[in-house]
Amino acid sequence: REGRRPLIAGNWKMNLTHLEAIGLVQKVVFSLKEEELDAAEVVVLPPFTALRSVQTLVAGDKLAIGYGAQDLAAVDSGAYTGDVSGAMLSALACGYVTVGHSERRALHAEDDTVVAAKLGAALRHGIVPILCVGEGLDVRRAGTHVAHCTAQLDAALEGLSAEQVRGAEPGTGIVLAYEPVWAIGTGEVATPDDAQEVCGALRARLAERFDTETAQSVRILYGGSVKAANTAGILAGADIDGALVGGASLDAEEFAQICRIA
Ligand code: PEP
Repeated sequence: REGRRPLIAGNWKMNLTHLEAIGLVQKVVFSLKEEELDAAEVVVLPPFTALRSVQTLVAGDKLAIGYGAQDLAAVDSGAYTGDVSGAMLSALACGYVTVGHSERRALHAEDDTVVAAKLGAALRHGIVPILCVGEGLDVRRAGTHVAHCTAQLDAALEGLSAEQVRGAEPGTGIVLAYEPVWAIGTGEVATPDDAQEVCGALRARLAERFDTETAQSVRILYGGSVKAANTAGILAGADIDGALVGGASLDAEEFAQICRIA
């Protein structure tokens, strides 16, 4: 993987109170060995209401685990009832934020313009965006999934420089996640070949848009019904640097096992 450190990010979605969050993070960290936490980067993405608790736990106990949010506003402050800004997340020392998750695109009508604006907001506040792209079942059946995903990538990266995409230091650039919508929460995981096909195409597109060095530096995750049992197969793909894990990240042992395999 040419120096790209594997990343396993647990997207908890709208689950767990702040008290339950503390319990889950403790269980995950304590079931992993130091060298396992060294080898792969482990990140949890709790709901907003648990971020402060997770921050206090991680910083107070110096736990080797990262955390971030599942969404952020495109703007920094103002009359946006219910929204949470990048400045607020950065004040909580969030390292990551997912942008363009298919549930946000579908349930909150976030189009490519909104996704690009949110990506820009994350970068403005020094938070690594995990940009999610992926096709629905209709697109997959039509066989146009690669073009669909690269178009989502192009739209989100509009106007960004290679330096912004790469980040100032290794591991601080943007992260991509290929998440076929038909595989999210359905138990239907993409085959390793299907996952590698799109992840490879995304990296090739980055090389075309920017340069080889930038493309090689970006970590690309697969997401969609990842479990311990299918992790090794998925991560065997040359362009797959980790996983975005939904449902299985709520089970401490299952999530820890995925991290161990990575
Ligand atoms: C996700 O929500 O990003 C996801 C991949 O969910 P699941 O693992 O449950 O399919």
